[in-house]
Amino acid sequence: MTLLEVKDLSSGYGAVPVLREVNLEVPQGTITAVLGANGAGKTTLLRTLTGLVKPTGGRVAFNGTDLRGCKVEDYVQRGIAHVPEGRGVVAELTVEENLRLGGLWRKDRADAKKATDEVYELFEPLARRRRSLGHQLSGGERQMLAVGRALIARPRLLLLDEPSLGLAPKVTAQIMALLRSLRDSTGLTVLLVEQNVRSALSIADQGVVMSLGRVVMTTDADRLRDDESLRHAYLGF
Ligand code: ATP
Repeated sequence: MTLLEVKDLSSGYGAVPVLREVNLEVPQGTITAVLGANGAGKTTLLRTLTGLVKPTGGRVAFNGTDLRGCKVEDYVQRGIAHVPEGRGVVAELTVEENLRLGGLWRKDRADAKKATDEVYELFEPLARRRRSLGHQLSGGERQMLAVGRALIARPRLLLLDEPSLGLAPKVTAQIMALLRSLRDSTGLTVLLVEQNVRSALSIADQGVVMSLGRVVMTTDADRLRDDESLRHAYLGF
């Protein structure tokens, strides 16, 4: 089943067009890696999918429902969580308080508490540092906190912008393994923007390559992983 369907989506900043008729289908319970050079429009794609940048054309359907007119604050309630580049952890709040922010809007308090306990189980370093302030955490811990906070909403679709940015390879591998296990155990669907192509392809089911605001290739991640000439042509390595 297709969870997210993007049809001829265009957007930009002011009069400057960035996304140009992007088409994309993300099947439920899969990881899609969005790849491409700096400035290709990957961040703008995520921002347009969550209503932060207004589309100038095309449409987005989530779980069969058109998202046109959906308010920015309603996306999370519909099941879409966005972890932006730079992570958005509040530096002056503790780990616990940051996680609580992720569940503030939830009416089911008991489940928000349960989801928080699950995040602590999933990310042990956070459990050990519950009372540490955001700015006292390492880069990897901050990234875990940003992902953990998004999970408290129990999203069906997680949009992640450059989760490996600034992280040591070992920590990046941990984050990737975690995303894979969330997909496998809970059926989470992930759209993953990454400069770290090898890491992203190591867990992805589908690879999407963007260039100059367009999707120039969509294929099985396996193919991009294994076919050197394809990788060379589209990703330059
Ligand atoms: P990166 O990996 O560098 O973040 P990206 O593929 O995510 O690259 P975007 O950040 O989406 O690319 O940028 C696409 C284009 O949009 C670039 O030409 C960029 O200069 C432009 N752009 C991005 N943000 C803005 C903004 N707030 N105002 C105007 N132009 C912007």
